[in-house]
Amino acid sequence: MANIEITLIEGDGIGPEVTKSAREVLNFLVENIIWHDVVAGGKALDATGELIPSQVLESAEKTKLILKGPIATPIGKGFRSVNVYLRKHFDLYANVRPSKSFKGVSTRYSDVNLVIFRENTEDLYAGIEKRVDDDTRHSIKVITRKGSERIIRAAFDYARAQNRKKVTLAHKANILKETDGLFLEIGRRISLSYPEIEFEEIIIDNLCMQLVMDPTQFDVFVTMNLYGDILSDLCAGLVGGLGLTASANIGNGYAMFEPVHGSAPDIAGMNIANPTAMLLSAAMLLKHVGEAEKGELLEKAIEYVLDSPQNHTRDLGGIMSTTAFTKLVIEALASEVKRVC
Ligand code: ATP
Repeated sequence: MANIEITLIEGDGIGPEVTKSAREVLNFLVENIIWHDVVAGGKALDATGELIPSQVLESAEKTKLILKGPIATPIGKGFRSVNVYLRKHFDLYANVRPSKSFKGVSTRYSDVNLVIFRENTEDLYAGIEKRVDDDTRHSIKVITRKGSERIIRAAFDYARAQNRKKVTLAHKANILKETDGLFLEIGRRISLSYPEIEFEEIIIDNLCMQLVMDPTQFDVFVTMNLYGDILSDLCAGLVGGLGLTASANIGNGYAMFEPVHGSAPDIAGMNIANPTAMLLSAAMLLKHVGEAEKGELLEKAIEYVLDSPQNHTRDLGGIMSTTAFTKLVIEALASEVKRVC
């Protein structure tokens, strides 16, 4: 089998701890991974004066596959965000963020199973901001036909491929008649090509309330960049928090996998971060490169470990360390692999 070459960016804060966990688990599960370690973010800035040294981009150009820990962007360093830069540079237009309940993690709801398709390159994240005068600032929301069509199609194609029942488009077109109006109009048109999938449109504020009342009424979401960002933290909260939610950033030929959470500087270096979000991101990577079985095996191993509250890390109310949790996942994988073989 061909090697899987991965550009690994460990990132800042808890990044080194959770990416170490993912590397150990992937090395256990897959024999033929070639890692390309590159440094971006705070550590790169200290060492080279650049947040994204050219080696990062060159490596990713070559491998086309990035596994990335969270990166904190220092304020006033010429970058709005390293994360946003990488997404835009490789035109990773589809940010896919699943939130699924774990049997072993008790929250208000037990059967949440949502996937957000967030447009990843436009909207208020396009970075067009202006200081009009001391008391007035402008920020421009950019929505294009091309950007909207490709993310909406990606959501419907996913729903079709995964046999999901409904796509809900979240917007605020009652106020933002031009930008959100265009996104909604395109959604309505594209939905006609997927007659087997229910299409629902909902105003974003109403969606927030509905989600908290009953998240099981939803399935796949498609929305613009800012709403998608906020919505994904809300959905993470429904299943147990940021330590549990993974994401993929997909473009044409390039893909980057990372946890939804940030660098969590408050717990960095303490060996208490929950590596689940990073490990689930690694599982998404495996599925993306055609190793679906191994990706599912990893998801099952994580679920199995999370089934016992004594295995939970501090964010879930437990005392398990990052390294001990990782060891348990590898043990679960080992027994599962033995069982299957
Ligand atoms: P960003 O702006 O980069 O998204 P943030 O400051 O909004 O970052 P996080 O860095 O994700 O948010 O942290 C939010 C809270 O969640 C913090 O209290 C942090 O400790 C906690 N947290 C985030 N990720 C994890 C994790 N993997 N394990 C445990 N706690 C986490």
